[in-house]
Amino acid sequence: MPRQKLTVVAPAYNEVEGIGPFVKSLLEVLDSLPYDCTVILVNDGATDGTGEALDRLHAAHPDRISVLHLSRNFGHQAALTAGMDYADGDAVICMDADLQHPPSLIPELVERWQQGFDIVQAVRRQTADAGLMKDLTSSAFYAAINFLSKTRIEPNGCDFRLLSRPVAEVFRKELRERDRFVRGLVSWVGFRTCLVEFDASPRFAGHTKYSFRKMLSFARTGLVSFSKMPLKVAVFFGFSVSLLSLSYGVFAVFAYVFLSKQVIPGWASTILVGTFLGGCQLLFLGLIGEYIATIFDEIKARPLYIVAREQRAKTGLAQAGDGPPGPRLPGSPLHP
Ligand code: UDP
Ligand code: MG
Repeated sequence: MPRQKLTVVAPAYNEVEGIGPFVKSLLEVLDSLPYDCTVILVNDGATDGTGEALDRLHAAHPDRISVLHLSRNFGHQAALTAGMDYADGDAVICMDADLQHPPSLIPELVERWQQGFDIVQAVRRQTADAGLMKDLTSSAFYAAINFLSKTRIEPNGCDFRLLSRPVAEVFRKELRERDRFVRGLVSWVGFRTCLVEFDASPRFAGHTKYSFRKMLSFARTGLVSFSKMPLKVAVFFGFSVSLLSLSYGVFAVFAYVFLSKQVIPGWASTILVGTFLGGCQLLFLGLIGEYIATIFDEIKARPLYIVAREQRAKTGLAQAGDGPPGPRLPGSPLHP
């Protein structure tokens, strides 16, 4: 009976110092497993020589390491998607390339898959160098999203997980949305899921690519693509404020007719009400704008990423003739 295939997908953006040690320790772990293992490294438009380092890694392990060079930096989630699209294993393992996701956890992920789980999600017990600020903002974000969204998203989940072939197929063929929040999609698809805890180590080298701005945009993507609640809050708020101003109108008429002495024409209250309502309108217009912007991106139907060049391992990438997956795959109404 042929051995089952595992494909590991790791996106890398400016990881020149860490990528070598990462691949070394990854291959050591994969060698100890009784599966045909291949690795897809995605160069997400790196500018620090990571691309060349990846080419060298492919040259050193031509039968096991495939490299996808994206045409520019498309972002972590798009790079991850590129790798997942090209993976052809019976199970696909996604992980970061900075050694914060320890390759030594892979045997446990695989074991759980063998027990029958389709999604084995790694959950951080703690991150050694996260910092108070990152911890706080991350907890606040997951509290908000789990309050607002019907899809439960694991608070300490990260993009370190194993997906069985059926789940990976769903991602390849059905889930082609551009505004991507992969950890939300993983919860949304269902299937038999289990969690495996680990301690995230500090980065081996370099620094995080998630600046505060990127984190905000990531949080916005998560919220907008997994919750319509903010729009409902806008409607509720608008309705409540209208009701309040209507009651105030009734009171004003009442006061004019019956309590005329107490009616003092006041600029302050007029300006306060005006600015408050103006502020609310702008806030909610902006909120609605965020959703429209997302619809706009989806409707343009641009590819999620563009592969400029690929180095195929002898096994491991979906073979030529299967057709490159991703944007050209059927299954999405936007990509017939
Ligand atoms: N990454 C990427 N494209 C980006 C940003 C990050 O491919 O635009 C990769 C990065 O090289 C790493 C993983 O995504 O392998 C996670 O990024 P990072 O370690 O910066 O995030 P953090 O662990 O700080 O949340
Ligand atoms: Mg990291």
